[in-house]
Amino acid sequence: MHRMSPFLLLDYAAESNFAPSEYARGVGAHPHKGFETVTIAIKGAVEHHDSAGNHGVIYPGDVQWMTAGSGLLHKEYHEKEFSRNGGSFEMIQLWVNLPARFKKEAPHYQSIKADQIGVYELPDNGGTVKVIAGSWHDVQGPAKTYTPINLFQVDMNEGGIFNGTVEEGHTLSVLVMEGETTMQGKRIEPQSLVVFETSGTVFSIRADSKARLLFMSGEPLNEPIASYGPFVMNTQAELMETFEEFREGKFGELN
Ligand code: MN
Repeated sequence: MHRMSPFLLLDYAAESNFAPSEYARGVGAHPHKGFETVTIAIKGAVEHHDSAGNHGVIYPGDVQWMTAGSGLLHKEYHEKEFSRNGGSFEMIQLWVNLPARFKKEAPHYQSIKADQIGVYELPDNGGTVKVIAGSWHDVQGPAKTYTPINLFQVDMNEGGIFNGTVEEGHTLSVLVMEGETTMQGKRIEPQSLVVFETSGTVFSIRADSKARLLFMSGEPLNEPIASYGPFVMNTQAELMETFEEFREGKFGELN
């Protein structure tokens, strides 16, 4: 959690096929507190409901940036029509930690539609960098973040080159969803998570076949982490307080 800070957890649901179903598969009501969840839909659609009455659907190419902050309950499941028809499903959920001073922000969402995401073209028809958060050259991402983050979805053509630098001291991790790549001169297998050394600022990525990547870079928080399941605080005492709030129903109600 420190080597990838401010990123805490990466849940990659690789592409799989779902048979038609009347029952929407997913996760029932559960809490989150002290961080943000970023859901990136690649294939299929996810529906969500929360204890504040918010409801929405995340379609392919869309990103939902949810700030759980002071705490909420929500549920996430296959969108009804997708469930009924079945089909191909691929999704990423990334947890982004909040610094201590922002852990008590009121819960809120940024619903980012596919067409709001800025696109940078790699040289020589090398592919595209979709800037979800932060910036790449003159392309600005739509997501507002509490700390400096560069979050990109990178679609590379065979032979494409994606080289650059990250800020001194920032972490850099790359999820390889698909394709053969070479990073810092090393051959990387498909479906790998590559965590770069933070001592260097220069990265070099070459696509040896068509490739799809998630590029995650940010300023590490350098704060203590006290976490238990869906709660991420700074101290054990704050965690105990959070369990108490949860027991007392302070995150609201959701069936
Ligand atoms: Mn959740």
